Amino acid sequence: MAAQAGRDGLGWPPPHEAPRKRPSTSRTVSGAEPVVQAPGETSGVGRSRTGGAGAAAAGPVQATPRARQARSVARRGGEGLPGSAMSCDCSVRTMETPTTREPLKPMDPALQRWLQQNPFLVPLAHFEVQVRAAAEAVPVPVLALPPWSEHRLEHENGVPLLLGEPHGAPLRAAAAELLGPASERVVEVALPAPLAEGMKEVRAVLARPEARVEAIRWLLAGASPQAAPVQAALLQLLAWKCFGRLLAPVLEPFAAWRNGLRWGRSTCPLCGALPMMAHARGGERTLVCGCCSSRWRDAPPGCPHCGNRDTGRRARLESKASAGLRLDVCEACKGYLKVYTREGEEAVYLADWPTLAHDGLAVERGYIRRGASLWEL
Ligand SMILES: [Zn+2]
Ligand SMILES: [Zn+2]
Repeated sequence: MAAQAGRDGLGWPPPHEAPRKRPSTSRTVSGAEPVVQAPGETSGVGRSRTGGAGAAAAGPVQATPRARQARSVARRGGEGLPGSAMSCDCSVRTMETPTTREPLKPMDPALQRWLQQNPFLVPLAHFEVQVRAAAEAVPVPVLALPPWSEHRLEHENGVPLLLGEPHGAPLRAAAAELLGPASERVVEVALPAPLAEGMKEVRAVLARPEARVEAIRWLLAGASPQAAPVQAALLQLLAWKCFGRLLAPVLEPFAAWRNGLRWGRSTCPLCGALPMMAHARGGERTLVCGCCSSRWRDAPPGCPHCGNRDTGRRARLESKASAGLRLDVCEACKGYLKVYTREGEEAVYLADWPTLAHDGLAVERGYIRRGASLWEL
């Protein structure tokens, strides 16, 4: 991915060559396969979350101003973090949190290789690991959730699980409870100064129980930076890491249950966010949520952000240097989707943050990040 195979370092056409209007059929760049389509489409009713944890954003090697800026930010964000130097021997795998000394889970081998190839992502990797570790260090209650059948009517009416009542209410309450101790924990780890100061602000605000409830409400309402109770990017990241703890035992059984039902929407069936990524295999495209990591297959065809089904106004951007990852772009809403087309490296290509450079390239070409992401450029 880091090979300088193209004019922008990733082999993609420069902005002026990016597709704008297609006469009748979707055009691909660099010999792409046909655009995946399926019947039915919804309008762009989902929530697009922005304002991610951009203080640590970074991306693979690029020559563009935005990429240079992202790398610079990554370096600043990584100051003081283990492995923040621009070399990486994948010590992330055995890294210990500075204060807890609890060994972190081994990192996915594909992600390790990715970090070796893109060492400037290492500070971001550490930041993500540390925030996740803070949330994972807090004991979580065992929730006695009702049967899935109690969510069926909500599901059929398009209500995501977390916004519903039978399951959503206890999950929201538990997440609000977790936010308090998780924010206490995260200020104990060695974050770079700006992030550490920001997390202290988050902790101070979340000291009040009603503020934690309001924070979860804000999160699930779209996490608007303008309406954030405090430090939107950091609060959003921390809150989703808390939800991640609670949702770990829920994701698989919920997916198994809803596979037998129709969802038929582009929004996440669990949290309601618009997708940031997708996994395409054969003629099937699975959408991936950048917030809760849910995956769902039965989305309508065309653009997941605006419902545009006109193949003449959609295209794919592909590059031989970025084999396995393409961008599905929409000329109607200027949205885009990062699409992984292979198998085995999902930890890299479906995790959002390792491929933030591709977001930068898309934005430079005039596209807009309409999917919900925890990571701001
Ligand atoms: Zn989701
Ligand atoms: Zn669109």
